[in-house]
Amino acid sequence: MDKTFSVTEIRKDFPILNTKRHGYPLVYLDNAATLQMPVPVQERIRSHYDRDNANVHRGVHALSQASTNAMETARETVARFIGADTDEIIFTAGTTDSINMLARMLEDRIRPGQQILVSAMEHHSNLIPWQEMSRRTGADLEIIPLDSQGDLNLEALEQLLQRDTFLVAAAWVSNVTGAVNPVDKITALAHAAGALTVIDGAQGMKLGVTDVTALDCDFLAFSGHKLGALTGIGVLYGKRSLLKALAPVRFGGGMVGHTDYRSSTWGMPPQCFEAGTPHYVGAISLGAALEYLTALGPESIARWEEQLTTALVQSLSLIPGITVLGTPRRRTGAVSFYAESIHPFDLGVMLDTLGIAVRTGHMCAQPLVESFGVHHVLRASPAFYNTMEEINRLEDALKRINPVLRGAAEMMTLAEKQELMIQNINALGDCFDQYSYLIVKAQQLTPLPEEMKTPAALVPGCQSQVWLYTRTENGRLFILADSDTLILRGVLQILRELFDGENVTEISALPVRLFQETELAATFTSDRNTGVQTILRKIRNAPE
Ligand code: PMP
Repeated sequence: MDKTFSVTEIRKDFPILNTKRHGYPLVYLDNAATLQMPVPVQERIRSHYDRDNANVHRGVHALSQASTNAMETARETVARFIGADTDEIIFTAGTTDSINMLARMLEDRIRPGQQILVSAMEHHSNLIPWQEMSRRTGADLEIIPLDSQGDLNLEALEQLLQRDTFLVAAAWVSNVTGAVNPVDKITALAHAAGALTVIDGAQGMKLGVTDVTALDCDFLAFSGHKLGALTGIGVLYGKRSLLKALAPVRFGGGMVGHTDYRSSTWGMPPQCFEAGTPHYVGAISLGAALEYLTALGPESIARWEEQLTTALVQSLSLIPGITVLGTPRRRTGAVSFYAESIHPFDLGVMLDTLGIAVRTGHMCAQPLVESFGVHHVLRASPAFYNTMEEINRLEDALKRINPVLRGAAEMMTLAEKQELMIQNINALGDCFDQYSYLIVKAQQLTPLPEEMKTPAALVPGCQSQVWLYTRTENGRLFILADSDTLILRGVLQILRELFDGENVTEISALPVRLFQETELAATFTSDRNTGVQTILRKIRNAPE
């Protein structure tokens, strides 16, 4: 790793990483959705507004020149970053926008009977525009299948390419499994068959140095916000020869050669594809973001992100009940998983209560997620500013949630349930906080009807009055109880939460540690202690 690549130092550029959520230090693992913006990029945006802001390509005044220069310098930075020329860089609103625009640009090129090949791991952004193209043109849409590990099946691609193919569309890196596609091989196969290639680079741009000449893709789409720039800015790269041959599909200011009332001619690429006022501040932020990543070292970023991803997969695989999607040969940046017993949204919310931000849902790759037999998943996506400790925090959180998960599946043992209650009560804080909790619990206990508060139901030896009924149904215990003091009503409610509906044999075998291992009994008098022991004995001796 570069000597200059220090995660501790890097994190200073991202103040948001130092904040807390729900009282816990934030662990931001939703980087595949959007990367946080480093301070130098924020400062660049600010300084543009402070010093140079004006519309671009519109005026002779100095400010407009400065603004235009800033945007065109950003275009140079983007071009340098991917090994392209500036006239091959079209600024768009993002990956989705790039691919939609490209699909329209290519529409009048496709011949009847040709096919469009789309990989089975695509984000909707690199699927639906091609579905639409197929619908509008009558071309066939075929899906390139994955192998059993979740990698693109290159043999199947070769087979499919035997038919007349117009275009192959594939992600560089899957936003669901993190699988890294061999873009150079895909483009070589496609070109050998005379097909064009479109690469969705939304998740791939941090895979070290990007060189479109080596990848040899015809088009590459990516988004600024996944690289530390503003939202609403993205890029469509296209080979110069292809862009020159394509016509614009958006019309308006800034893109014409000449216009009269009846017709227009187009300017040169890339301007002819950027109708209207471009998102020049976005472009400037993207230039700044790429400069920032370049200074950190793209290779170091890529290496660290892969190491974090591997650690993530390893730690998730250790947690019982968690299934990780796919086992691709190389993966980076995203790992999706689910737990059998709990909806991903519920698990996502529970992780959030522990300060951990992960994505939940179908990841806008519904066909892929559903091919794993589930509708929704969770996704943890690390970035170069994440630490191994944060991966451990996710693992610890899942382990902590695990008994609850298993409880949700009615698989948690009574001992585990007690353990979890002890943990939760102790997490409340000191004796005062735990007593306050008892009082809250007291209010949750359903009062016994007066006619049930009989002398026969009284538990002897309690400092105050406690009435207790136990009932067994199919080997499971149910408790009805009340007291004239709030403290004991709280104790009874906690015992109901522990024992109600549980198996009587399991109950009688359980050493009850709830009061010894929390502060709940800290101020119990010896009489009250004896009373609680009597209550417990009565519960444990309930007839089967
Ligand atoms: N493709 C992939 C692989 C993605 O991960 C995303 C963003 N989740 C997109 C396309 C769409 O990017 P955007 O929303 O920035 O257009």
